[in-house]
Amino acid sequence: MNTGVFLLSEARGLSRDLLGGKGYGLAEMAQAGLPVPPALIITTEACRRFLREGAVPGLWEEVRAKLSALEGLTGKRFGHGEGATPPLLVSVRSGAPVSMPGMMDTILNLGLNLEGVQALARATGNPRFAWDAFRRLLAMYGEVVLGEKAEVFEEKLSALKERRGVASDAELSPEDLEELSFQYLRHLEARGTPFPMDPWDQLQGAILAVFRSWQNPRARTYRRIYGIPEDLGTAVVVQAMVFGNLGEDSGTGVGFTRNPATGERGLYGEYLRNAQGEDVVAGIRTPEPLERLLDYAPELYRELQEVAALLERHFRDMQDFEFTVERGKLYLLQTRSGKRTAQAAVRIAVEMAKEGLITREEAVLRVEANALPGLLRPAVDRDRAPEPILKGLPASPGAAVGHAVFSNEAAERYAAQGLPVILVRPETTPEDITGMYLSRGILTARGGLTSHAAVVARGLGVPAVVGAEALRVYPEEGRAQVGGLEFKEGEVLTIDGSTGEVYLGAVALVASAGEALLQELLAWAEPHRRLGVRANADTPEDAQRARAFGAEGIGLCRTEHMFFHEERIPWVRRLILARTPEEEAEALERLFAFQKQDFKEILKAMDGLPVTVRLLDPPLHEFLPPLPDLEGKARAGDEEAQALLERAKALHEQNPMLGFRGVRLLLLRPAIFRMQLRALLEAAKELKEEGFDPRPEVMVPLVADPKEVERAKALAEELFQEYGPIPFGTMIETPRAALLAAEIAPLVDFFSFGTNDLTQMTFGLSRDDAGKFLPRYVEEGLFPFDPTERLDEKGVGRLLRLAVEEGRRANPRLKLGLCGEHGGEARSVQFVADLLDYTSASPFRVLTARLAAAQAGMRASRTVPG
Ligand code: ADP
Ligand code: MG
Ligand code: MG
Repeated sequence: MNTGVFLLSEARGLSRDLLGGKGYGLAEMAQAGLPVPPALIITTEACRRFLREGAVPGLWEEVRAKLSALEGLTGKRFGHGEGATPPLLVSVRSGAPVSMPGMMDTILNLGLNLEGVQALARATGNPRFAWDAFRRLLAMYGEVVLGEKAEVFEEKLSALKERRGVASDAELSPEDLEELSFQYLRHLEARGTPFPMDPWDQLQGAILAVFRSWQNPRARTYRRIYGIPEDLGTAVVVQAMVFGNLGEDSGTGVGFTRNPATGERGLYGEYLRNAQGEDVVAGIRTPEPLERLLDYAPELYRELQEVAALLERHFRDMQDFEFTVERGKLYLLQTRSGKRTAQAAVRIAVEMAKEGLITREEAVLRVEANALPGLLRPAVDRDRAPEPILKGLPASPGAAVGHAVFSNEAAERYAAQGLPVILVRPETTPEDITGMYLSRGILTARGGLTSHAAVVARGLGVPAVVGAEALRVYPEEGRAQVGGLEFKEGEVLTIDGSTGEVYLGAVALVASAGEALLQELLAWAEPHRRLGVRANADTPEDAQRARAFGAEGIGLCRTEHMFFHEERIPWVRRLILARTPEEEAEALERLFAFQKQDFKEILKAMDGLPVTVRLLDPPLHEFLPPLPDLEGKARAGDEEAQALLERAKALHEQNPMLGFRGVRLLLLRPAIFRMQLRALLEAAKELKEEGFDPRPEVMVPLVADPKEVERAKALAEELFQEYGPIPFGTMIETPRAALLAAEIAPLVDFFSFGTNDLTQMTFGLSRDDAGKFLPRYVEEGLFPFDPTERLDEKGVGRLLRLAVEEGRRANPRLKLGLCGEHGGEARSVQFVADLLDYTSASPFRVLTARLAAAQAGMRASRTVPG
């Protein structure tokens, strides 16, 4: 019985889940007739079984059988050369069902031993190559399987180069590499972890190491960041080696079938002559662009173009492929759907649909809605920018300003203080993932556009400049140098990932221009959208911006922000201090004038569209200066400060989030309620007289009981008598309001789910304090995601569903919206897409909400039976 080992030719029809992404891609390529070195694949099922039970019965027998099939296919014997035939060497590669670049360890040249090196040297006529292959195997095997630190091997290599007085590995002689190999062998022996000379022992050790690498911390971190399930397991590919380091007619490279940064059509990639596999990906030497092949190997270039076209037709998506050329012959070693920037994702989807490779519907579904704000990432304002200090490769577009940090640890330190950081490294490795994740931008001195730093930055949607060769980075000393110029940890840098330029200090940024292609994609998407999309906007500027992004109104206009202006706050304070009705009236009169003007401008910006105004929400003490300030001034004899201090002490709350705020405050200080509502109604009235079409709606925050709504409604009715009614609604943001939805619904025209507070109160956590534990909860898998970012469907979603169902039943004309932060998060939007009438998102997230809602509409119509 087959426990899960297949040759490429036997893997036809098996799933990606079983073969892993790498194995699946190789099997598909082989089937499409592309040149792929023979390989066997051990399935993820075997890995899962191993991790569960510690062994897989029958595994080794099967591997042995398939390995002899590989011997048959290649005409070579595993680990043993004969005459002019070199030994069969293999790579042992990991590959999970989901791409996890650089997260798992690959071993090359496996099967070599002291006898094999001689045979390889004889067969290739190249002893230098043979010893080089062996010392690489020893170092890789020593690290990945035997657990020695990579630096130990690097140090011995550096020491040898120093003794020989040479700068590059290439200048070492065959004898040097032989000596190095023996040093490695002796070191591993002395360490108590001798290198297994038997090729079969090597293979078993390597396969088990790949299984185990599923559990290594880097892989865990990556899975956590990308939300990849812990229980997928990895497949193992054992593949016949081909060599890119056999001379100038050999090499290795990475290709993209389209540009992953911009999405532009056409082959794109990098090539390193006379090099083996990992040299490109690791960014150790900076490779040359593929187009250079046109100068010295034009047939190879054309062959790669054909391969790219074939890959796209076969996989119907942009592919990122790895290849090696051995003495002029091309071999494909990997293909997968390429990671891309948001900008490239949109361009590729739209253009592929136009080329007829995919349908328009597929194009819409392919773009990750949450990535759209990245499209609107700012750029350096070229008119105001100084001379750049440095130029590297533009690896991930957008500009970023932040404090330079040189390590994960420093990135964490700055980020903990809420400071933006730019991670600066000689090059990045998977160990740097934490720092990269925390950074606004990434800058490296070495590596090309397909180096680790570039790939990960694009995946994270973070601007990056890589391969800035004039840069010298000294992480241990916390400094870097560019020519005579030095910058240290904490100094502010600006990087522009669209041009590759780097500036010292904070450079002015400008918003990027809207994307024509995105508009095209959205035009295809829109007919599938049922859910309305509004914006959360408190100013006319935000309202205009949101409208330009396609918002169909304002779902949440917060009025408290309007009180913080310099000329207004004194009147708010007078209102708080008022001792007589006259004093209160005077302060309110002033605030009324400001507020009416604000409402007019916002209603004008949203002319013809609904604007939901939320009455005052925060507790009053938020408008007072901090206590220590007041105490200082009061001591110095300031009378107003003295009065404010007394009020501030009286108003002080242990837990303001659950305190005297929202509807509680509005009902007990009804003059504020009346002032705000009158300002809104008066603004609308004046606009109507000026020929506009204002559509105001009013909403009360924080209710927990129908009585509160009744009382607020009565207050509103007084003014509706005078001005005529407007839609009156309530936020549903306390669990009790959701539970009593049936009683509240008949009293109002609409519900707006305030999912920020609803989440906080349902979980019993405060967003202001959750930073201390939430990230760790997510890290340790206690929560599958951060519920303050993405709506918790199970708990909060259940309350929401209940309120929707019971509210609608009690009031069939009830309108339903959502206005929390979740309103602009794609998965949350998809969750509410057929529950609610509209969602409301911050202006930059309006596009995300529109696309996500359309995608939900498409998926829903797809799953309709028949
Ligand atoms: P990763 O998962 O990090 O992409 P890979 O398994 O693709 O790791 O291996 C790393 C590098 O080793 C690749 O760039 C690939 O080109 C090279 N490599 C892997 N297998 C072979 C092989 N059989 N012959 C030649 N090079 C190989
Ligand atoms: Mg690879
Ligand atoms: Mg709230």
